Amino acid sequence: MKVAVIGAGHQGLVGALILARAGAEVTVFEQATQAGGCVWSEQRGQVLVERGAWEHGGIVELAESLGLEAYGLHYREHSLLSATRFGDGEQRLFATDLEQTVAGLGADADRYRQFAELAGSLFDMLDAFATPPTLTEVAATLSPLRGGDRLFRTLLRPAQVVIAEAVRDPHTRAALELYAAHGQIPPWAPGSGMFGLLLPAGHGGRAARPVGGSGALTAALVGALEAAGGRLLLGQAVTQIRPQPQGAVVCTAEDQLRVDRVLSSIDVRRLARLVPELPAELAGELGALHSGHFNISELTVSLSYRIAPLLPLDADRDAVWFTQKAPSDLGVGLAEVLAGQLPSRPSAMVGQVDQGPGTGGAVWLSSVVPLQRNDGAWSTTTEQEAGTRVVDAVSEILDCDLWQGLDEIVVSGPLTWGARLASDGNPNHLDLSIDQLLGWRPGGLDRWQQRYPWLSWCGAGVHPGGGLSGASGVAAAEAILAGNHALRRTNELVGLWQAFGAYRQLRRK
Ligand SMILES: Cc1cc2nc3c(=O)[nH]c(=O)nc-3n(C[C@H](O)[C@H](O)[C@H](O)COP(=O)(O)OP(=O)(O)OC[C@H]3O[C@@H](n4cnc5c(N)ncnc54)[C@H](O)[C@@H]3O)c2cc1C
Repeated sequence: MKVAVIGAGHQGLVGALILARAGAEVTVFEQATQAGGCVWSEQRGQVLVERGAWEHGGIVELAESLGLEAYGLHYREHSLLSATRFGDGEQRLFATDLEQTVAGLGADADRYRQFAELAGSLFDMLDAFATPPTLTEVAATLSPLRGGDRLFRTLLRPAQVVIAEAVRDPHTRAALELYAAHGQIPPWAPGSGMFGLLLPAGHGGRAARPVGGSGALTAALVGALEAAGGRLLLGQAVTQIRPQPQGAVVCTAEDQLRVDRVLSSIDVRRLARLVPELPAELAGELGALHSGHFNISELTVSLSYRIAPLLPLDADRDAVWFTQKAPSDLGVGLAEVLAGQLPSRPSAMVGQVDQGPGTGGAVWLSSVVPLQRNDGAWSTTTEQEAGTRVVDAVSEILDCDLWQGLDEIVVSGPLTWGARLASDGNPNHLDLSIDQLLGWRPGGLDRWQQRYPWLSWCGAGVHPGGGLSGASGVAAAEAILAGNHALRRTNELVGLWQAFGAYRQLRRK
């Protein structure tokens, strides 16, 4: 079987690797001159900087099962899922271990434990469906159960409300909101409730960073792919896909390749534009999907130093820290972003990039800015200005001057991300809003693949969504190998059983 994979982000590479190892003749087309997509590490002189994704807890298990260690990928685990530092010096730490977390939450300890149990059981229930359920199916599963109505309502409420119901301390609430919002959905938005449950549901999971930076994941995936006989073509944007009676022809500006199967990992709306004569029904369905509804875009700032700065962030060196001056800043900042303005008091994520011995140091900052500014288009200059504000804000919150001893600042804003990904720069490809989640997000096994047996899709715009997981790449590759594009029926009995578990937790609450 000849397969063309479109996009060498981690999802496309995971899918390509599984197919190549199963004997398929795989060609990966990547429009950029580097593989990785949102995973973007760069060696700048002596210093390794991160420009994209930081935390790898969601993919560490898959990386192990794919044997990527043999291709140079070594993970170092850390004990914090998330940590937040506020301007008044307060901090909240969320460890992988629930009891360790609870021990630091004072009067909210028992309330948080119950919240974590409730969150865990809700996600278990969602996981139990054989294919991602639509929200209508979740409602149908929960509705016969006492308490099910209330549990379902949690998904529809704003994350802020869900969190405020669960814990009382303003700093703990704000820390949970910051985590809830990192999928680019404001915690005040109705339907963001599920994101309020993400951090509490994550205890017991793993948190990890690759030795040598995030790019070690891409390098290992490419190495493994090539060892399995696959090939990666860089700087080769797919410009058109022409369906054939059997398979398709994939076109770039310079070349054409006849294949039996296409696995696309790019934004499905952009994929649709590559396929001429798309039936109106499918074109309409894909056209109704959205990105950028809350006008949120990424801004990363990569700082490099000859001598690493000593950030006053104790605990865990590899963990990602959220910084925010006051607990209420996030909600206000995201409203400003929606209005096209830079946040007046930006929140940011902070990471300290581990370097080899004898080298300098680097700090990674990640914040949000408007996708569309209300005062004109983004330029390199305005990206730099926005980056400067983030460095100032973090320096103030941490009471540590990040400008001191700085060698180089590299800012990656909406303009940079748009070019890097050949898209609007959304790392989730589609908004992670409730109308585009679970079974309402394009899935690896949905009904369209019965009409186009040669075409499969994965990537951040496909269920389960963005983040480093490899999940949709695995699902799509396995479906191709199984030759099974038929819709699998939802396993309602298992779903129901899990829903009872969720209900028991709810009653205890
Ligand atoms: C700044 C930042 C920080 C993040 N932090 C984290 C984190 O800490 N932890 C976490 O889990 N997630 C994080 N994420 C999210 C995560 O990195 C992404 O959701 C994920 O990597 C998306 O992977 P993907 O393979 O689906 O898509 P992408 O990474 O978007 O890859 C798609 C690829 O397709 C290519 N492409 C597009 N069009 C074409 C075409 N026509 N022809 C050929 N190639 C094409 C693009 O160039 C790109 O390489 C972060 C994202 C960003 C931007």
